[in-house]
Amino acid sequence: MSNSGTSGRRKFIKTTAGGTVAFTLGLTGLNSLLSSFAEPGQDDIHVKFNTGFDQQPLPYAYDALENVIDAKTMEIHYSKHAAAYAKNLKEAAIAEKVDINQPVEKIFAKVDGYSAKIRNNAGGHYNHEMFWKCMRPKTENNKPVGSLKDAIEKELGGFDKFKGLFSDAAKNRFGSGWAWLYLDAGKQLKIGSTPNQDNPLMNISEIKGFPLLGIDVWEHAYYLKYQNKRADYIENWWNVVNWDYVQQRYENKG
Ligand code: MN
Repeated sequence: MSNSGTSGRRKFIKTTAGGTVAFTLGLTGLNSLLSSFAEPGQDDIHVKFNTGFDQQPLPYAYDALENVIDAKTMEIHYSKHAAAYAKNLKEAAIAEKVDINQPVEKIFAKVDGYSAKIRNNAGGHYNHEMFWKCMRPKTENNKPVGSLKDAIEKELGGFDKFKGLFSDAAKNRFGSGWAWLYLDAGKQLKIGSTPNQDNPLMNISEIKGFPLLGIDVWEHAYYLKYQNKRADYIENWWNVVNWDYVQQRYENKG
């Protein structure tokens, strides 16, 4: 089986509720299938269609990020807030006859065609599923690795500059929302933020692209430990960023 684009045939993998199914399609078939999944251009930014409607297990214990995020905050955040987004998403999808076996990413491409309940809860569910994986226990001298490290140096002026710009985006997001490192349609690294539970995959978002790293700056993410000091939460959070996972997303593997 060839998966070379130049040969006119390539392998397309679609994740379904039942598992992974691989198809070999002609380019015409591939393009029509892709266009049924996404707005034009989204395949260019390597959107990975792999997020289901159900909340996945937290990849570590509630107390695994202590000193940065306390166990009580993690427990409430995961088991109450994030669980509610997943539950409410599914409820709304069933009530509105939206296919719950499709990847959530597919909704974002045409999110303006859905209700506010779907938009807010699909965003909340996806953003948190990604957020948990973007963290790991505290690591000394925690920095990007591999090709992402090189790209941050080349495109964003180095890690320290990137960290400052990203932290500012997180601090300056008024009210509740998220700050992001994302790939734009030209596969360039960009930094920005979104309000509420929006994200760069949504077609209504001011910033558009594929999110690589996100920080939750809703008060529920930090208030028990940091109260009003959002800047301290952000500064400490850099110690628990899972750069191996962010690298996987950059390579479109995660
Ligand atoms: Mn949250």
